Amino acid sequence: MYRTKALIAAVLLLGMVIGAAVPADTSSASPLKPPDFGAVRRVALVIDDFGNDMLGTEQMMELPVPFAAAVMPFLPTTKRDAEWAHRKGHTVLVHVPMEPNAGKPEWLGPGAITTKLTDEEVRQRITAAIEDVPYATGINNHMGSKVTADERIMRIILTVCKEKGLFVLDSRTTDKSVIGKLARELGVPTASNNLFLDDVYTRSHIAKQGVKLQKLANTREATIVIGHVGVPGKHTADVLGSAIPAIRQSGAVFVPIAQMMQ
Ligand SMILES: [Zn+2]
Repeated sequence: MYRTKALIAAVLLLGMVIGAAVPADTSSASPLKPPDFGAVRRVALVIDDFGNDMLGTEQMMELPVPFAAAVMPFLPTTKRDAEWAHRKGHTVLVHVPMEPNAGKPEWLGPGAITTKLTDEEVRQRITAAIEDVPYATGINNHMGSKVTADERIMRIILTVCKEKGLFVLDSRTTDKSVIGKLARELGVPTASNNLFLDDVYTRSHIAKQGVKLQKLANTREATIVIGHVGVPGKHTADVLGSAIPAIRQSGAVFVPIAQMMQ
């Protein structure tokens, strides 16, 4: 008898707990939930500038979501970082150094593609860069505001990507980029960046971009965001460390960059 009463009490208590946790009317939308687009909101994270044992490399590799590690070719830890990312289940991209309109040439790194190269030199350099980064399934541009606006050069790069079955992510370092137009013409899967997390290296700016990312993830069906290892690497990893759970909480899903390609 006592046992029965205790059981009933336990069941009642459980009912109260469940009752408290589940709202009576589940059909009404929670005010905390963002609008329903009828599709899962997706976020793809890309981290640039791996390959030179840069600051924040380890923190980024440990992020609890799939991301694309954009690895620069011909650098001391190019192979190590590409293999590391692959082992962790992340996507590997060749982070191809391309000439910018402004900026120091030494920021480009070895094997950079510049507008002075001949067609054959461009083909050789992009082929060598792709072959230097193991496990790469796509490329994106490092800097490149000048080269990505150059139709002659981008046509060669995209043609090589097509031959090798690689997709092309446009980092969007210029609004004059011809990548989207040429990729569609040549039938190369492509997508472009929506937000740089750390285009300015200060902690306060990166934190602000983290808030912007959460807003984009709440309002867009698809968001592509790029951060960096290097000078801002640790701040960016910290900001991502707190933004990721908030974004997931809001119902958005982190997906591999390949799922964003059109
Ligand atoms: Zn870069």
